[in-house]
Amino acid sequence: MSDLYKLQDPTKQYPQPKFKHQPQSVPGLDKDMTPKADHGETSYKGNGRLPKRKALVTGGDSGIGRAAAIAFAREGADVVINYLPSEEADAKEVIALIEKEGRKAYAMPGDLSDEAFCRKLVKDAHKKLGGLDILACVAGKQHAVEKIKDVTTEQMEATYRVNVFALFWLCQEALPLMPAGGSIITTASIQATHPSPSLLDYAPTKAAILAFTRALARQVAEDGIRVNCVAPGPIWTPLQVSGGQPDKKIPEFGSETPMKRPGQPVELAPLYVLLASQEASYVTGEVYGATGGLEIS
Ligand code: NAD
Ligand code: MG
Repeated sequence: MSDLYKLQDPTKQYPQPKFKHQPQSVPGLDKDMTPKADHGETSYKGNGRLPKRKALVTGGDSGIGRAAAIAFAREGADVVINYLPSEEADAKEVIALIEKEGRKAYAMPGDLSDEAFCRKLVKDAHKKLGGLDILACVAGKQHAVEKIKDVTTEQMEATYRVNVFALFWLCQEALPLMPAGGSIITTASIQATHPSPSLLDYAPTKAAILAFTRALARQVAEDGIRVNCVAPGPIWTPLQVSGGQPDKKIPEFGSETPMKRPGQPVELAPLYVLLASQEASYVTGEVYGATGGLEIS
């Protein structure tokens, strides 16, 4: 894995296309990806930027959420991760990595498309951690469908429930529990502003996340809570190989970026850490991209 802190050519820092076909069923597992994604397991070094913070990370088992959870722990935070029960194998690895840092780690599996579960998750996380300072909403559902006629109502509803409705439920529960200084971080996408034709249901949910972030940030700024958004470009995660992209696009995944490669989850971790930390005290309602050079706005 790359030495994150060494001066080097970023275009060559991580694997480049071509990749092999490797279809997985939803939601996909990190442990079955080739090449392995980098979440900072052996490379991310903490610098005391989140001392004693209490963080809830949805989608914390794999991909970008795993990178954020590992980085938060290395920066001094105790962490609850949420994921789907079928992702237990990935989640166990993350829990072990956090505990290795001497931080507390709690696994809270469950389905974010269920309102009652979302509300309970926040309450349980707050109780277990003894507080809640950081809510990183990273979980997301993405399933590519070539033609609008084939987008089922079932898929549409599931995508909106996980990507948009859950944000409302999680934030509604979290805000009254968060102290001034608390930070909410959402996860949109390059798709919010540059939608792919095959992501007709997913892309608008990411645009909704962008608008939600900007509106909520302005609503709660006076309470001392900051709300910001990370907008990734193509990142090498199980979401993509489990139907997020049409399978035929996987071998060239990331080649459309000016850097000609996909990003790795660890390349997003510093953004989540910055936005979670007090260093970003004057930053709210913002969108931070990591796209290999694709334009977000
Ligand atoms: P990932 O598959 O590793 O993470 C997505 C996670 O969402 C899964 O691990 C799963 O735990 C969670 N999830 C999905 N449905 C759920 C449900 N019903 N209940 C609870 N959890 C559920 O993939 P990732 O790429 O790291 O995705 C993280 C976020 O990044 C998503 O919001 C995604 O939309 C966004 N994103 C990814 C890319 C990319 O290219 N990988 C690009 C832009 C944005
Ligand atoms: Mg996962």
